[in-house]
Amino acid sequence: MSLPAMIKLKNRPVDPEALAARFIALENHEITHDRLVWRMRTNRDEAIAGVPDWQELRELASQIKEHTLTHLDDYLEQFEENAKNLGTIVHWARDAEEHNATVHEILKSHGVKSLIKSKSMLQEECGMTPYLEKRGIEVTESDLGERIQQLSNEPPSHIVVPAIHKLRTDVAELFAKNLGTDGNNSDPHYLTEAMRENARPRFMKAGAGMTGANFAVAETGGFVVCTNEGNADIGASVPPLHIASIGIEKLIPRARDLGVFIRMLSRSALGSPITQYTSHFHGPRKGGELHVILVDNTRSDRLGSDDFWHALKCIRCGACMNTCPVYRRSGGLSYGATYSGPIGVILDPGLDLSKYRELPFHSSLCGSCSEVCPVKIDISDQIYKWRRVVAEKGLMRVSKAVGMSALGKVLPHPELFHAAELAAESALAHTPRFLLYNTLNPWGKHREMPAAAPQTFRQWYIANRRPK
Ligand code: SF4
Repeated sequence: MSLPAMIKLKNRPVDPEALAARFIALENHEITHDRLVWRMRTNRDEAIAGVPDWQELRELASQIKEHTLTHLDDYLEQFEENAKNLGTIVHWARDAEEHNATVHEILKSHGVKSLIKSKSMLQEECGMTPYLEKRGIEVTESDLGERIQQLSNEPPSHIVVPAIHKLRTDVAELFAKNLGTDGNNSDPHYLTEAMRENARPRFMKAGAGMTGANFAVAETGGFVVCTNEGNADIGASVPPLHIASIGIEKLIPRARDLGVFIRMLSRSALGSPITQYTSHFHGPRKGGELHVILVDNTRSDRLGSDDFWHALKCIRCGACMNTCPVYRRSGGLSYGATYSGPIGVILDPGLDLSKYRELPFHSSLCGSCSEVCPVKIDISDQIYKWRRVVAEKGLMRVSKAVGMSALGKVLPHPELFHAAELAAESALAHTPRFLLYNTLNPWGKHREMPAAAPQTFRQWYIANRRPK
């Protein structure tokens, strides 16, 4: 197994169980989050039922992405050349530091002190906002959910709906503190209007607007941004300077390939046929200036990994999060990372293995994520492989490593397994409670173990299915 250079060991590990416990302890949050996120999943199911060739589209999307990624150097050069021909200024960034420094340099050279930006997971990944704020630039998120998260000093908890983990009453409280609204009024229209009043003057005075990109088209040198609020458009249209951060994996070869991905993106994300705004940018607007920053930040290392390169096909639709039972019940902030849910579990360890070593175990491995992924990423296989990497690097938690090692000795021997099964049954019935529910068993803090079934599966199989 090739272990790519992307594996870094630098930070203290996040503890998803402790973070999940914090979320679960908040009244009504877990149940509301589960309901809202699951609704997006069922909306997605209904939307794709109306597209008879959905499975063919998935296959095509997967093939286009794989083809692009295996010819990425050519497509990047083609994109750069065509973008320059349109009058776009193209920059390259090896990592987050180079990306942030490039943005700062462009803003400084234009004397910009105030920036509005639409949602970009890449800019989150690079830690761009704190970097710019430290250097005296005022940054305002223009997406409503992102702005709520910014005012809360929290990262997004979902890649499509960043504040989905909050109740309306949480937002009312937050706005009362920051915008002076009535903290007892949680009417969404009232709150949205208050945000509009607060945000508009910031939009009008901003010296630059930043966006990400959903797709960058090599054949044209243009790129596409999809939003439901039109906020990327205002950022790109009002200030004279537009900067777009684009991960190098966002390339697709031809404009006609957009027809495949645009049909899948919003249906997979929210169950709607298309995003409200699908904006195409081809060079700077008249009198304006457009900069594109093509960012690597470990993507090339991932591309060189046999086991993990398929994760680069991701179009950030969030469908895998909406279907994941662990994500729905623990909330996105429990991952302690830029990317949460199943896609986070396979992306974050590649950014920092030491810090995110626990995330591959924050999954039931049920495989539902792989089933819904519109670009057919083998997410659950990759989660399993990340577990293997964590174990091989000696980074597994001691209690887990001991348990796994014991299982490894028992499972290859059917007789031993059978004896252990019977012993466990009787042990569970007689073990004192404090030995089962203690600090070594964090999952036991919030749930009771079900009583053992009167019959094991083996006993049932022998009685009902075994050929006589
Ligand atoms: S991994 Fe697949 S399902 Fe998950 S966000 Fe990416 S494209 Fe969507």
